[in-house]
Amino acid sequence: MRAEIIAVGSELLLGQIVNTNARFISTQLAEMGITIHFHTVVGDNKGRLVEAIRIAEGRADLIIFSGGLGPTKDDLTKQTIADHLHAKLVIDQQALSFIADFFAKRGRPMTDNNRQQALVLEGAQVLKNDNGMAPGMFYRTSTHTYILLPGPPKELEPMFQFEAKPLLAEQVLDNQLIFSHVIRFYGIGEAELETELLDLIENQTNPTIAPLATDSEVTIRLTATGATEDEAWSAIKDVQAEILNRVGKYVYGYNNDSLAQKLKQTLIAHHLTISAAESMTAGLFQAELASIPGMAEALVGGVVVYNEETKIKHLGINKETIDTFTVVSREVAAEMAKKVREKFATDIGVSITGAAGPEGHGGQPAGTVWIGIAYKEEVHTYELHLAGMRNTNRIRAVKFAIHYILR
Ligand code: ATP
Ligand code: MG
Repeated sequence: MRAEIIAVGSELLLGQIVNTNARFISTQLAEMGITIHFHTVVGDNKGRLVEAIRIAEGRADLIIFSGGLGPTKDDLTKQTIADHLHAKLVIDQQALSFIADFFAKRGRPMTDNNRQQALVLEGAQVLKNDNGMAPGMFYRTSTHTYILLPGPPKELEPMFQFEAKPLLAEQVLDNQLIFSHVIRFYGIGEAELETELLDLIENQTNPTIAPLATDSEVTIRLTATGATEDEAWSAIKDVQAEILNRVGKYVYGYNNDSLAQKLKQTLIAHHLTISAAESMTAGLFQAELASIPGMAEALVGGVVVYNEETKIKHLGINKETIDTFTVVSREVAAEMAKKVREKFATDIGVSITGAAGPEGHGGQPAGTVWIGIAYKEEVHTYELHLAGMRNTNRIRAVKFAIHYILR
């Protein structure tokens, strides 16, 4: 099954709106294990739309259209497809009464072009629009499946999810159940992960294996089909076992798990409290932890000590340590972690000091970070060399800190 999305709308080409519909549909299809080979964007122009459809028909089995189902002159998707496929447009009574009802309730007259919105391709399965007037369509020929969806995301998204997706699963994927499972990694890059799993990725069939890098984390989505959930799940389990076998030490969770969530669970399970002294991240670490409900059981508090003076005055860091080793150093990170742990009387004290960029800091090049973790009488320190932009580096430093505490 090869799919293509054709987004229709001159405003997309003019850069006035972003093609979020393609992103949404792609994500949904990926979850179903359907591969998208092309995204096409074409203006509100009949000739060019036909050209785009012809090209798509040559390289895809499933073609999904977004936009151009409305009542105005520039909305020509439906008419163009009907002409191209030599299909008739017929009134869908349910859609018509829905539109008539809409105008009656508002005491406004229904115009002829509003009536046109109830026209659908003859033989299409009509997709209900709960948030607007134009119905969508699911239309099959002997060679292709066409899905027509309205442009506004608040209409398209529920229509795709609740109307089109079940039809796709039932009719195009032959009632196969689709099951998706995400494995979450930390501490390994996407390229390295791919190298470790290259043979699995190259020989994938069921499940499909899709690595993805986002927010400085790497995930692998396994998508399997089967006649039953058990069948799909057992296909996933086999591949997952092999993945864990090779790179299991980098796995921190599954599906909707997050590093911060994992940290909360671990701290609470071991009755541990934590505090933080942050320089380069200026509170990001604590904010990330606080995004998890119930974190107060573990996160006690912390300080932001952004410059040398506050590090000395408010956290009690020795001026000598800074002068001898610079502010971005193993020694300062260690002292910060120790001091904050003492000040807040927690089991764990964490510190982050670094040069976020774009300039170097404390005599260190941009991207240098030292993380300190004080636990009981020990202090562990970790050095990072990050290559991202300023704020990416700050977020990465936070995630690495959480990762090191978990280790
Ligand atoms: P309407 O009945 O509202 O005219 P329509 O199906 O004719 O709907 P369009 O006229 O193409 O759709 O687009 C309507 C609006 O939907 C656009 O102004 C834009 O805000 C949004 N939209 C259209 N296409 C996309 C897209 N690909 N991604 C995100 N938003 C879109
Ligand atoms: Mg329109």
